Amino acid sequence: VEAAGAPVLDVKGLQAWYGESHILHGMDFHVRQGEVVTLLGRNGAGKSTALKSIMGIIGKRRGSVMFEGKETIRMSSDRIARLGVAFCPEERGIFASLDVKENLLLPPTIRSGGMPVDRIFDLFPNIRERLTSQGTKLSGGEQQMLAIARILRTGARFLMLDEPTEGLAPVIIQQIGRTISRLKAEGFTILLVEQNFRFAAGLADRFYVVEHGKVIDTFASAEL
Ligand code: ATP
Ligand code: MG
Repeated sequence: VEAAGAPVLDVKGLQAWYGESHILHGMDFHVRQGEVVTLLGRNGAGKSTALKSIMGIIGKRRGSVMFEGKETIRMSSDRIARLGVAFCPEERGIFASLDVKENLLLPPTIRSGGMPVDRIFDLFPNIRERLTSQGTKLSGGEQQMLAIARILRTGARFLMLDEPTEGLAPVIIQQIGRTISRLKAEGFTILLVEQNFRFAAGLADRFYVVEHGKVIDTFASAEL
């Protein structure tokens, strides 16, 4: 059973290309306010490409991506970010040459309502303890936490997380799960890409299965 109300994000017929390579062939899915929605699918299915397309960081895209009722398919990534969309890529983007604090302060606060650093420390106590560590000295789990913490500073209420559990130990995966649950409880809306189905099953309200650049199935947690 889905919550009522217009979707925050409504993707229809989304196509995307890398150069001449046609990767997304018309994807349809939506996310409602306060939901955690997960895209599942094999390696190379197009999950990351879908998130990058929504963020506007893929040049050639077609179809419709409505965010809070505004068509974003022709907007720059900067404009999309200013609407309140944030993306945490698979590569995490932690700079080895910067320390934790510098990494955390990297994004410009692009709209008001960005989470104050003190609140971020409450959610991520490890970060407060490691503020002067170099990016390289962090474990994979710490880097992932820092990457999530960083996008909270942007003030976005719609977060896209690409495989936040990839390559991490079970105990760290649990911590990340608790963090995502807390963000959901605070009213953030989250679009997650995951291959770890057990992890996603504990968090997501609904799922979409992506294959060859299309959504081929959808189901709700309640149906599991
Ligand atoms: P994974 O689970 O491995 O992260 P994915 O579902 O996220 O996979 P994408 O990264 O979206 O898959 O890739 C979809 C397709 O696009 C793949 O065939 C991939 O090889 C191709 N692709 C991805 N990035 C590029 C790029 N920068 N240039 C050209 N092709 C790319
Ligand atoms: Mg990917």
